[in-house]
Amino acid sequence: MQNNCKIIFVTGGVLSSLGKGITSASVATILKHSGYKTTMLKIDPYLNVDPGTMSPLEHGEVFVTEDGAETDLDIGHYERFLNTNLGKINNITTGQIYSKVIKKERQGKYLGQTIQVIPHIVDEIKSAIYKASVGFEFMIVELGGTVGDIEGMPFLEAVREIVFENDKSKTMNIHVTLVPYLKAAGELKTKPTQHSVQELRRIGIKPHMLVCRCERDLPDQLKKKLAYSCDVNMDAVIQAKDAKTIYAVPKEFLDDGIFGPLVTHFNLDKTKPDMTKWNNLVNNLLNPQKTIKLCFVGKYLKLKEAYKSLLEAISHSGAKHNTKVDIIWCDSETVKLKGAKNILQNCDCILVAGGFGDRGVDGKIEAIKYARTHDIPYFGICLGMQLAYIEYLQNVVGIKDATSVEFNKETKEPAVYLIEEFINTTGSKEIRTVKSPLGGTMRLGSYPFEAKKGTKLYDAYGKDIQKERHRHRYEANPIYKERLQKAGMIISAQSGELIEAVEIPSHKWFVAVQFHPEFTSTLERPNPIIDEFIKVSIKNKQGER
Ligand code: GLN
Repeated sequence: MQNNCKIIFVTGGVLSSLGKGITSASVATILKHSGYKTTMLKIDPYLNVDPGTMSPLEHGEVFVTEDGAETDLDIGHYERFLNTNLGKINNITTGQIYSKVIKKERQGKYLGQTIQVIPHIVDEIKSAIYKASVGFEFMIVELGGTVGDIEGMPFLEAVREIVFENDKSKTMNIHVTLVPYLKAAGELKTKPTQHSVQELRRIGIKPHMLVCRCERDLPDQLKKKLAYSCDVNMDAVIQAKDAKTIYAVPKEFLDDGIFGPLVTHFNLDKTKPDMTKWNNLVNNLLNPQKTIKLCFVGKYLKLKEAYKSLLEAISHSGAKHNTKVDIIWCDSETVKLKGAKNILQNCDCILVAGGFGDRGVDGKIEAIKYARTHDIPYFGICLGMQLAYIEYLQNVVGIKDATSVEFNKETKEPAVYLIEEFINTTGSKEIRTVKSPLGGTMRLGSYPFEAKKGTKLYDAYGKDIQKERHRHRYEANPIYKERLQKAGMIISAQSGELIEAVEIPSHKWFVAVQFHPEFTSTLERPNPIIDEFIKVSIKNKQGER
């Protein structure tokens, strides 16, 4: 299945964490802003079918797409850079590819053949790559891992074959590498890059462009050395110095001349990309006029990547309002130990993020109570909503034992419970019980809701039907609805019978949502409810309190 989409493969060399994801997203952004219909694909060579069952402390955030796929957090970067929605077909893993091949083998589809990595696994990979490219002019494919890793081999072979079976001007290989600075020698070193490119060529892949991560400017004579030793045109050796914000990377690449080699390689007819609006937002991020302090109460603080999309979404609104949002990290267990007042008293707003399991829950409830009783803008997301529901039931309605069945399976007051049957986004019935396997059984993906008129949610979203993404197993229990409303907490949105948002009208700004609004925020289009929270908090700081 071949089409007219041009494909750029991005591989990584020397070591991990070089910013392949941001490099890929930046190249895609440049092409999109030049007028090309562009998409992206992330290949993860691990054996998990998806990262849904991995710990956030190990793998960072699990990003959820509109169509309910649990994906690598790089997909989030792609959406935020491209200002578009991607889906299940934009993230493939070794686990997915092998599952498909084994399933076909069981169905007898290979007609007696011996199933092997070459050709069967590689063919399946190639077909997934081509499938994701249909309907686009450009696709950037990022290969996870580092060249030379055993698990990446079948994917590199698929890249080699795709390059081989297509016209030269249809594919391009970009290799992201490290050019370290050795203090003792006072020099930038090219050897690791040379070795990494040799490894790539041994597999049969020739890079057409090098993106070199470096702490200092790459002088021309070094670019020349890299060009000669790696067989790459000199103008296609691009420096990638550490940027102050990831959103500045497209401009930095353009300043270093990345557009020229792209034009030459692909014979492009479009002129330079129009990055005016983008660059203005980046400028706001780099030179904010105001600052607010946001207390971020969470429990995966050892790896901030666990909250990637949320942190990015907050910065998108910050950029829009020309404000630096200073995050004060509050470990939920510390809130419990030291008391909410000591930790939270100097902030302009409080956020309780999503999470799983009962560790840190008491501290989160204390933080919510503090925000509620001190009229400090509060925003709760997912678990942050479930706990706001529980806190109100415990401390205002007076149901002391209200809790979630996630923390106490036998509870008599299941304020947050497991709903066993519901209709999913595609209209089919989903069944989940305590016995369901963990992988892929949560409420996942986009669900529609309508904000109730006169609520703060309505201020943010307006009257239209909206969609936001979900990733949770438990739901707020509607049998407590009446009692809550009588006591002053309202339900401001539902998706069918499922409770999507609650708020306290008498409070300055207390809103909590069951969905994850952070997944739909992009630099050019901040999420409405996060934006409203930041806007109100800026106002709160400006002396209203
Ligand atoms: N643990 C809760 C649930 O599964 C909340 C999940 C979340 O915050 N993403 O329902």
